[in-house]
Amino acid sequence: MSRTLAILKPDCVRKNLIGKVISHIQDAGFKILAMKMIHLTEDSAKGFYEIHKERPFFNELITYMTSGPCVPIALEKENAVEDFRKIIGATDPAKAEEGTIRKLYAENIQENIVHGSDSDENAAKEISHFFSRKEILENNGWK
Ligand code: UDP
Repeated sequence: MSRTLAILKPDCVRKNLIGKVISHIQDAGFKILAMKMIHLTEDSAKGFYEIHKERPFFNELITYMTSGPCVPIALEKENAVEDFRKIIGATDPAKAEEGTIRKLYAENIQENIVHGSDSDENAAKEISHFFSRKEILENNGWK
């Protein structure tokens, strides 16, 4: 089993798509280990996207990610990082495959509904950005 971090981004929350997107994720076999709804502060968003700080879209990305509440979710599945990237689709929804979350629901390359970690190492870092160890269920909460 491995883990990944998803964020249902502010456009997902604003469009009342939380339920639909979580259903899609669960139907693909992911188990939820932790989940919360929060409004990112500017500092927290900048920390989370630190690797993009030199990119031309960085300031706009921070404005978007702090524009309303979002829903970070720690997920578990075999091959979680890669399989989650498959079900969300390409960053730009215009280039995403049919049936992917971004193809179904995203507006454009910035407002693209959902985040997914891009490596196991980043998944671990990103999960700890949002959740303490105590908040993460072991074995999906079941004994
Ligand atoms: N983004 C953007 N403009 C771009 C590329 C990315 O606004 O040209 C935003 C978009 O919300 C994306 C996030 O920055 O999801 C992080 O970019 P990354 O390249 O890591 O894409 P992802 O891993 O989310 O597919």
